[in-house]
Amino acid sequence: MDTWETLEQECGSCHACPLGNGRQRLVFGDGCRTAEIMFIGEGPGQREDEEGIPFVGPAGKLLDDMMELIGLDRSKVYIANVVKCRPPRNRDPMNVEQEMCLPWLRRQTALLRPKMIVCLGRIAAQAVMKPDFRITKEHGQWIRKAGVWITAIYHPSALLRDVYKRPETFLDLKAIQAKAREICSRTDLSTP
Ligand code: SF4
Repeated sequence: MDTWETLEQECGSCHACPLGNGRQRLVFGDGCRTAEIMFIGEGPGQREDEEGIPFVGPAGKLLDDMMELIGLDRSKVYIANVVKCRPPRNRDPMNVEQEMCLPWLRRQTALLRPKMIVCLGRIAAQAVMKPDFRITKEHGQWIRKAGVWITAIYHPSALLRDVYKRPETFLDLKAIQAKAREICSRTDLSTP
């Protein structure tokens, strides 16, 4: 049976796909390992690859701000990516790379048993929700899979590139806060 420690150790030596050859640090995940809310991104960028922690660059700073808006922070959620090693030049992870890496995410999810998953961007939504997920049309919608409520919002990098996406993301965040208040009894979502 998995424990967080054995899973992280096993994952740490993974070279199942070619991304493993180019990494400086494997980015396993960050946050609270008993959280009710899980955020899933796409894969590490340069800063994440250097530090071994997800969402630590400019997009990570924006994610922290987005969470703060709805009373969350890294002590109250768990954050992981679809692929654990950095794709070269920050390209999208290929399907085959995602397929090789997704078992790690599934095992993380099985250990965490979140009540809610928030996918960050198209790649995560297509991997977790459905292969033809269209982020521009379907962000903010909810599905329920195996008892877990799942939604997707724009990736913070997209919000850095296009500030006009921010108002609709604000509404999505408020909906996430409302849903979390409804189903996450152990998570304090109070905002100042
Ligand atoms: S990206 Fe995932 S599957 Fe590929 S080497 Fe890294 S941990 Fe293994």
